[in-house]
Amino acid sequence: MIRIKNALVMPMTDGIAIEKGEVWTEGDKVAFVGQPDAKKFADTRFEREIDADGGLVMPSFKNAHTHSAMTFLRSYADDLPLQEWLFNKIFPMEAKLTGDHIYWLSKLAILEYLTSGVTASFDMYFEPDAYVKANIESGFRTVLCGSIAGEPSNLDRLDGYMQKFNGISPLISYRLGFHAEYTASYELLEGMAELAKKYRQGVSTHNSETAKEVRECIEKYGKTPTELFDSLGLFEFGGSSFHCVHLSDNDISIFRDRGLYAVTCPGSNSKLASGIAPIVKMHDAGVKLAVGTDGPSSNNCLDMFREMFLMTALQKLKLDDAAACPAQWVLEAATTGSAHAMGLEDCDNLAEGKQADLIIIDLNQPNMQPLNSIANNIVYSGSKQNVMLTMCAGKVLYERGEFNIGTDPREIYAKANEIITSMS
Ligand SMILES: [Zn+2]
Repeated sequence: MIRIKNALVMPMTDGIAIEKGEVWTEGDKVAFVGQPDAKKFADTRFEREIDADGGLVMPSFKNAHTHSAMTFLRSYADDLPLQEWLFNKIFPMEAKLTGDHIYWLSKLAILEYLTSGVTASFDMYFEPDAYVKANIESGFRTVLCGSIAGEPSNLDRLDGYMQKFNGISPLISYRLGFHAEYTASYELLEGMAELAKKYRQGVSTHNSETAKEVRECIEKYGKTPTELFDSLGLFEFGGSSFHCVHLSDNDISIFRDRGLYAVTCPGSNSKLASGIAPIVKMHDAGVKLAVGTDGPSSNNCLDMFREMFLMTALQKLKLDDAAACPAQWVLEAATTGSAHAMGLEDCDNLAEGKQADLIIIDLNQPNMQPLNSIANNIVYSGSKQNVMLTMCAGKVLYERGEFNIGTDPREIYAKANEIITSMS
C-alpha cells in the first residue's frame, strides 16, 4: 500500500470541495481517502509513504482527444490553415511513418503527458500495435479511437482492432471511431452505424472543426455533419465528437438528446484559426463536456493547463462576459468529463475502489499562492510546473521532474530526432 500524507484532497466526488486528508492506494486502486484514525493505521503496512508537503491530491487529467505520435511534426508546418496544413504537409509525412517510428514518438508524447498530470489519452492514430506496446511498457493508460477513413473496406480492419485490443491489458481499450466526415465515403458512415449496433457502443470522430467542413457537408448532403451522422444512426449509443466549433442550435439539441460528449480542443482551434467552440451554449443546453489537446502538430504542446486556461478565456472573450465558463466547469471537463467521454468510468474521481489515477499539485510555488481558491489557481494561474507527481494505475510514473517509464528520456529524444532526420 502507498500512503500520500500531509495533503489536501480534492476527490471530485462532490464538485471541487477540498479537505485536509490522506490518500492510500493498494495495487492499482484507491484504498482510502480522508482523515485516518488510529484504528485505520493498526493493520496497515505501507510499502511507501509520500509526503505531499501540503500539496493537493486530485484525479489526474484525461486527454480526451489527441494523436500522440504526431510529436514528430511539432513545429514542422506551422502558421497554415487546417486544410492546407493537413493535405499538403501532414498527410505526405505521415505516409512515411513505420511502426517503430510510432513506438518512439508515442513514448515522447507519454513523457509530455506525465509532466502535465495526464494519465490517459483518447488517441486516434494508425499502427496501433506499436502504440499499444509503447503504452503498456510505460505503464500509461490509453483508449485507442478508431481512425478509419475512405471506403467501407476499412470497416473490417476496425472490427478486427476492436476484437484484438479490448482485453489485451487493463491499461488499453479500443473504441469505435472514424477520422471525419470529409475523409469518409457515405458507405463507410453507414457501415459505422452497423458497427455501433453490433457493439452497442458510441462512435467518436472529428466533427465541425472548421466552417469549411460544415459548409461542404451541407452542400453535399443537405445536412450538417452532426445531422448527417444522427440520421444514419451513428449516435444511437452516444459517443463523442472532437472540436465541435461550428455547431448549429439543432446540432446542440442532437448532442443533448443523444448524450454525446463535446470534446473541446481550444489550443488547436486557436492555432489553426478554426474558431471558438460554443462551450457556454452547450453547457447551458445540457451537453456533456470534455477537453483534449489534439495532436502536437496542430497545438503544438500536450499541456492540459494551457487547454484549461484557453477553454475559459476564449469563452469570456467570445461572449464579452468575464463570468462565462467558470473554473469548476473546466476542472470537471478535464477530469471526470474526459474520463467518461473515453469510457473510463472507473478513473473519473478518487472514491475508494476507483483506479489510482491521480496527481499531486505542488502548492508551495509562487503561482499557487495565496490559497484564496485552489481550484481557480489551477485553472487561471496553474501550469505543468506545479505537477509534483503523476500516478497511473497505482504506479508513480513521474515525480519531481523524474520519469519512471522504463526508458531514459534522452534515448527517446535522440530517437525522435533521428526519425525526423531520416525522413527529410
Ligand atoms: Zn484531431
